[in-house]
Amino acid sequence: MPYDLTEEKLEEIKDVNDIVDVVGEFVELKRAGTNYKALCPFHNEKTPSFVVSPEKQIYHCFGCGEGGDVLSFLMKHNNYSFIEAAEYLAKKAGIKLEHVSKKETKKKNTLYEINREAGLFFYKNLAKSKKALDYFSNRGIKTRLIKSFGLGYALDSWEALYNHLKNKNYKDEDILKTGLIIGRDKKQGYYDRFRNRVIFPIIDTKKRIIGFGGRVLDNSLPKYLNSPDSDVFYKGRNLYNLNNALKNKDINYVILTEGYMDVIKLSSFGYNNTVASLGTSFTKYQVKLLKKYFDEFYIAYDSDKSGIKAAIKALNLFKNYNIDAKVITFPDNMDPDDYITKYGKVKFKEKINNASEYFNFLDDYYSNIYDINSNKGKVEYIENFLHNVKNITNSIERELVIEKISEKTNISKENLLNEYNKKISKKNIKQKPIRKNKDRKKAIRDLDLGSYLDKLLDLASYDDELFEYILSKYKDKFTEIFGNDFHINYKPKENSNLGDVEVSTDELDFLANKILIKDKEKRLLVLRESLNKDPNNEELLSKINKVYKEINILRQGGIN
Ligand SMILES: [Zn+2]
Repeated sequence: MPYDLTEEKLEEIKDVNDIVDVVGEFVELKRAGTNYKALCPFHNEKTPSFVVSPEKQIYHCFGCGEGGDVLSFLMKHNNYSFIEAAEYLAKKAGIKLEHVSKKETKKKNTLYEINREAGLFFYKNLAKSKKALDYFSNRGIKTRLIKSFGLGYALDSWEALYNHLKNKNYKDEDILKTGLIIGRDKKQGYYDRFRNRVIFPIIDTKKRIIGFGGRVLDNSLPKYLNSPDSDVFYKGRNLYNLNNALKNKDINYVILTEGYMDVIKLSSFGYNNTVASLGTSFTKYQVKLLKKYFDEFYIAYDSDKSGIKAAIKALNLFKNYNIDAKVITFPDNMDPDDYITKYGKVKFKEKINNASEYFNFLDDYYSNIYDINSNKGKVEYIENFLHNVKNITNSIERELVIEKISEKTNISKENLLNEYNKKISKKNIKQKPIRKNKDRKKAIRDLDLGSYLDKLLDLASYDDELFEYILSKYKDKFTEIFGNDFHINYKPKENSNLGDVEVSTDELDFLANKILIKDKEKRLLVLRESLNKDPNNEELLSKINKVYKEINILRQGGIN
């Protein structure tokens, strides 16, 4: 039976097998700057021209031209087939490769069915709820849009959806897997995840409902709630409205926004080619997904501080894949929804035409924060700008951007390059792959969970509601990791009206998620150590596999 080698699985296998480690098993590597060098195993030579790059995770021989990634190395060097190479790497990392089975497909289909049924239920509820209809109409969402996006409403009830699905004869365990219900803590039974929220179904490119987003009707927290990741829903690997964005084959550009409402509003003005990430920050998988379908990319995030920071991150992520995305900016802390509602389609089109390219956007941003007429400001401008430049994979382009920074600041290009190279080599020392047992032990110590928790609680303390939010959502998990008293020294800060500190629940979730991931990574390292001593222990392997899966879910933004 064939293995279920999806693109995701291959990514996972490659992600955890550092090419330096794998090639190093067969070839004696020596460090040379940021790379490693060796005598080429594929042709005869006396001086090394075979280079392995940990940064790019590739190898290349300047003598014979051989090159590729960790999989192609094994295929060429060990004469493995593609499957054998993947098998070898998976085994090395304790990842279990699963066979494609009919049972799996059937199980997934059941989850799609349940989601579909729930989507219909939400949709029908909306027609009967005046306050939810009012919410949409106040935001300019007309019946036509409600229909085309399948918008809905989750009743203000603990079990309405659960009972509805039970009546349709779905099993508890299957409904639970969709994340639509949550098991009760002490008592038996389940309750609905989405209650008293307007609902945005998330539909994949095969027209299946894979998950839901739900927004409160007032200002309570959390403002948005999403389905957790499941066997059919990976937040970090899907995009809201991609299904519709692909319908018009003549349009080769896509607009990336932060919110469901932005997407719906822009669509209503004819911009169907708009997508949004799903309550997590934009990921490399989403870059790859968009790259498959579009040639031009526009980032249209909120113009507040956190929106601009997110835009910089997304811009750099595109650059990692050699893509020139552009950023559309809005005045006065507006988001795309606000802007198009106030100024209309023609003005919005102008915004698209005037979108900023990489250098200009960053230049505007940093020039605004730092006064480059002062020495201090100039240094900070350069430092921060160069920090982004490492994301440019094309070396010629990198040089061009550095040239522009030089023109702007009157600092010579040589000096800037020097500074840039220092930054890069620092980064590489930090990212040195974990190799030996000794290093692994050190790595365990370096996973400093406590300082993350401090940061999280400190931020949450700015606001009663945020503090409550964190406690209600993560108390059990954090108690498991840190013990009962983890929050005892933190209290909501008295009389604090956030001032210029901006804290969003997203940000807190992000930090909390980091803590959960780090905790699991710690466990993984310990398990791997044990596996080293007892390589054939099946039980350990399956534990490792399980923790792996959990980490992956967390990495994709699944918190629940
Ligand atoms: Zn060679």
